Amino acid sequence: MSDFYPWRKAPEADFAVIGCPISHSLSPKMHAAAFAELGLESSYVAIEVQVGEVAEGLDHLQSLGYRGVNVTVPHKEDAFDWCQDASDIAVKLCVCNTIDLRRNRGTNTDVVGFSRSLEGHQFTGKKALVLGAGGSARSIIYSLELDGWEVTLWNRTASRADRLVKQFGFSASVSSVPSLASFDLIVNSTSASLGGNRLPVDWTEASKSALAYDLAYGDGLTPFLIDADRLGVAVQDGRRMLMEQGAAAFEFWWDETAPREVMMAALL
Ligand code: NDP
Repeated sequence: MSDFYPWRKAPEADFAVIGCPISHSLSPKMHAAAFAELGLESSYVAIEVQVGEVAEGLDHLQSLGYRGVNVTVPHKEDAFDWCQDASDIAVKLCVCNTIDLRRNRGTNTDVVGFSRSLEGHQFTGKKALVLGAGGSARSIIYSLELDGWEVTLWNRTASRADRLVKQFGFSASVSSVPSLASFDLIVNSTSASLGGNRLPVDWTEASKSALAYDLAYGDGLTPFLIDADRLGVAVQDGRRMLMEQGAAAFEFWWDETAPREVMMAALL
């Protein structure tokens, strides 16, 4: 758990992560470790911003002299709307998770962060199932399609999955049932794990060579990964993606290579 501040009581600092809820975020710990490693005299705090207050919150942090923010659930679309300038990838997906407040410029480092978080895995095929159709699902699907994966999408609210695919012109197919059979990669991009909830999936259907991947992270395995692990399926939580998207954010703010190993160590 991180200490956090409501945005109206934000302290003097240089960088922040904004979201709601925000107390679970490990970003302050990770970025503080990076700053210390490189001798950068900067601070990074967690700021709670309620739904509907993103523009006001960002204006306020900017007026206090904050240089940059990361944006997490559920504010990535509102953050994109606030930016006056954005990278091509943020414009394509209409979400940004990283802003340079000095330039009012946003970007999306989730796409590259997710892709890099899969490096080193040996997959037998390239069929992926993505569960969830929220703000992060669009970055995950885009990242997978750029990397040549064939994607199937399932969401609790089916109409939202259909809309997502149409809106962004993805080639992903939409499934009405979350069947795990025949996928090499099964990604939970829902926020179910944040509330300790389970998805209606049957891990006995999954291939033993698949990777179960939950974007969420916490102390120990998430409920999604506990069930996969029990059935002998390899598991990965969201910390490596958190590190990779954070490293890309760091490099967006600073003209320096991020100290990835130190950032990862801070998360473990
Ligand atoms: P959103 O709020 O935009 O979307 C939430 C999604 O989860 C929707 O598809 C929603 O379905 C679904 N959902 C929520 N609760 C349940 C449930 N109990 N059962 C089934 N489906 C459910 O969230 P984001 O997409 O922004 O984030 C999703 C998760 O990804 C969060 O846990 C977040 O922390 C994590 N994340 C991690 C990152 C990392 O670096 N590791 C980066 C980005 C995100 P419906 O449409 O039916 O409501």
